[in-house]
Amino acid sequence: MPQLNSALGRLKPSAISDVFDRAAKLRAEGLELLDFSVGEPDFDTPDAICQAGIQAINNGETRYTAVDGTTELKQAIAAKFRRDNGLDFSLDQIVAASGAKPLLAVAIQAVAGPGDEVILPTPCWTSHVGMIDLCGAETRFVECNIDSGFRITPTQLRNALTPKTRLLLLCSPSNPTGAVYSAEELADLGKVLADFPNVWVLSDDLYEHIVFAPNIFATIAEVSPELRDRTLTVNGVSKSYAMTGWRIGYAAGPTQWVNAIRKVFSQSNGGPCSISQAASVEALNGPQDFLAEWSATYQHRRDLAISILARTPLLEMKAPEGAFYIFPNCAKLLGKVAPNGQKIRTSSDFCAYLIDQYNVVTVPGAGFYCDPYFRISIATSEEIIKAGCQRIVDAANDLRSEN
Ligand code: PLP
Repeated sequence: MPQLNSALGRLKPSAISDVFDRAAKLRAEGLELLDFSVGEPDFDTPDAICQAGIQAINNGETRYTAVDGTTELKQAIAAKFRRDNGLDFSLDQIVAASGAKPLLAVAIQAVAGPGDEVILPTPCWTSHVGMIDLCGAETRFVECNIDSGFRITPTQLRNALTPKTRLLLLCSPSNPTGAVYSAEELADLGKVLADFPNVWVLSDDLYEHIVFAPNIFATIAEVSPELRDRTLTVNGVSKSYAMTGWRIGYAAGPTQWVNAIRKVFSQSNGGPCSISQAASVEALNGPQDFLAEWSATYQHRRDLAISILARTPLLEMKAPEGAFYIFPNCAKLLGKVAPNGQKIRTSSDFCAYLIDQYNVVTVPGAGFYCDPYFRISIATSEEIIKAGCQRIVDAANDLRSEN
């Protein structure tokens, strides 16, 4: 019998598949669920961006492009970094790819391998862990709980650094907590890293344009110039421009790192879709005013959701500073029993109870290496937020203490 590659054994089974299986089963039975599990904007891609894609087809721009993206796209990316982040990159320091996800995976693979450690603050996005596992490096999780605003502190960072550390992975605004690092906080992390010149830094900035006032987005390469020659800043059009299906991500940083990524893509993926690249040029170069409007909409939804969830004292949460997720702590529910006799031992149990009894889909904290929390996505309508959050409150209040 032929064998699969044993390296795949490093990928852990998904901690959240049970919830999605339950949701799929209920949907198949015809039940309508209030879905808070989505990780993508509910807005449509703006028309001007779609038209740019259509125009590209009409112009016959349907052939292979350069592996790292068209010159037009790389110029638009360079202009974006200059405009939004005060960062100057030459085109050979930029790479575009079929989404930020493969870009992040290859970026990690390019600098870390077996025997290396990658520092990852938790709660974290599940795929960051999978990417580190796949390249054979060890993940050094650093627990950042609700009291520290879900952000790694300079002391925690210093304590986590070892001679084996090859990479620090930061994600701000964060999926799943919505935590946003301020410029000062990032600069303080930069000061720690100044003492560790062999450590690369990977900044996942996918949610850059979803930041709620008074918070202001910053990225580490911008605020720590001394780290610029070892920081790769990754971004994309998926979350900010409602373009998840177009699959365009991009990165900029040191030539050595970017060249390594380009080399891997040249033998694996090839260049990203030519039509999506043309649409992304319009996204990055065209009007940007809708970004602030969308962000204000998410902020309004956040306030609405939090005002409803606050009706129960049993859930503790911190208002997210960005992204479109709320990450409540459900520790006070653990040990309680549902009216049907089901005991709540973990956030996964609570999420299962929410689906089965209240038809509300959320994602348990185990998927983000953090329990007992669960993630609520507010990339959905106010109607669903009002009805669904009230059901979450009712579900929490309906639990009874065990006698
Ligand atoms: N980074 C973070 C933090 C994400 O949450 C996601 C998607 O959920 C991605 C990257 C992937 O982005 P893309 O759609 O460009 O692959």
